Amino acid sequence: MSDRCHWAFEGELANFIPGCMGGAVGGPDGCTCNHPLSAIEREREARREAEEYVERLLMKARRRQEFVDSMMRENKRLRAEVRRLKALVGKGPGRRFT
Ligand SMILES: [Zn+2]
Repeated sequence: MSDRCHWAFEGELANFIPGCMGGAVGGPDGCTCNHPLSAIEREREARREAEEYVERLLMKARRRQEFVDSMMRENKRLRAEVRRLKALVGKGPGRRFT
């Protein structure tokens, strides 16, 4: 067991485990564990960075999906155009294209 305040992560749940009286009484904001960039701050920072990373990945996935969607719409439009042109050529005199 740690003698300093820290977070215990269980999947998405983060439980604050107080290690000082300030943390016990005031929670994370009341922590008085006195050391530069405490374990709790490092864990907060790591979690914040991880969440930002996930957010960037989600944005990237959304942009890619939008690109895929636009390509599928364009593909559909081009197939319709090909059908239209084939029909046009098929109706005309002379050679038929398939
Ligand atoms: Zn503390």
